[in-house]
Formats: sequence, structure tokens, C-alpha cells
Amino acid sequence: MSGDHAGQAAPVAAKVRRLEALLEQRGLVDANDLERALDAFLARARPANGARVVARAWLDDGFRRRLLADANAALPELGLSMGGGLQEQQLTVVENTEETHNVIVCTLCSCYPLALLGPSPAWYKSEAYRSRVVRYPREVLRDFGFVLGPGVRISVWDASAETRYMVLPRRPDGTGNLDEQALAALVTRNGLIGVAPV
Ligand code: FE
Repeated sequence: MSGDHAGQAAPVAAKVRRLEALLEQRGLVDANDLERALDAFLARARPANGARVVARAWLDDGFRRRLLADANAALPELGLSMGGGLQEQQLTVVENTEETHNVIVCTLCSCYPLALLGPSPAWYKSEAYRSRVVRYPREVLRDFGFVLGPGVRISVWDASAETRYMVLPRRPDGTGNLDEQALAALVTRNGLIGVAPV
């Protein structure tokens, strides 16, 4: 399904550090500039970004379709992107419906759309979540206090080194009068992972 992310992460990090050292040595890049760029990326990486994407998709069906078809191409409409690191990661947005509920995981390590969801929670990286959600998704959701009807199918999406996933939750009933900002405020990080309804 996916490569050995845990195995790849360390060599990649080492390569990045070597590259940084080389760039600094040659005076091409200032260590402080790199640090500032990283800090700026992390400061912008918040679940509020994912929530904005969801609220826009709920209100604008054209955007919703573009998002589901090619999330990387649609994100810049909201001033967002999957870049920020050295390399843009592929994002696939999976939409919850009446029949199907989606949950995301990285079974090998902790791949996750950081730019849109903020730093990942400890449980997302835990062995317990990674191993159980694939085999017993309904039980895992119940542990989060989220009970799905027996007729709802659950799709579990396993991130790879190249592809990250985000859930597009269903718009809650009775929110027809809310504007985009108010709708975004309803969306939680857990909803974007799929372990909460919204
Ligand atoms: Fe991973």
C-alpha cells in the first residue's frame, strides 16, 4: 500500500540537515532564515485551515467538486497549499456521505496533512490507533465517543509518503443560516481526521 515511511523519514531528515549545512557553509542560506521559514510554516499550520476548506466546500459546490477532484489545485483558492516544507505533498480529500464515513491513518508512522490540521495529536501516532483503526474502525470511533449507525460503511485511508488525506465531514443539520466563518468554527481537528462527526 505504501512505502516504509518510518524507514524513509530518518534518511530524509539527515539529507535535509546535510543540505542545510552545505547551503550555510557556502553562504547561500542563513541558519536563522531557515529557522524563521520553518517557524512561519508551523505558525500557519493549524486545524483552522482545514476548517476553512470544509466551510467553503459546504457553501460552494463548485469549490467542493474542485477540492475532491484535485485538492492541491483547489487549496490556493483559499490562500493555502500543501507546500511549506521542501516538497509539496499530494493531498486527497475524502468526503463523508450518508452511506460512507472516512477515517485517516498512517499505519506505518504518522504521515498527516500538517499544513491543514496542525501538529498531529499523540494518539494519531500511537501504535494502538495505527494498528486498530484499520481492522476495527467502528470500535475505535466508539472509543472516541462517536457511534456510527450499522448501515454506514467506513473507509480507512492509509497515508503514504507521497499522499496525505483529509476528511470532508458532512455539514450538520440546522446550520443553513450560518455564514462561512461560523461554519468553520464547527469543524474540529478530530472531524478532519474522521474520529468525530464534524
Ligand atoms: Fe507515514
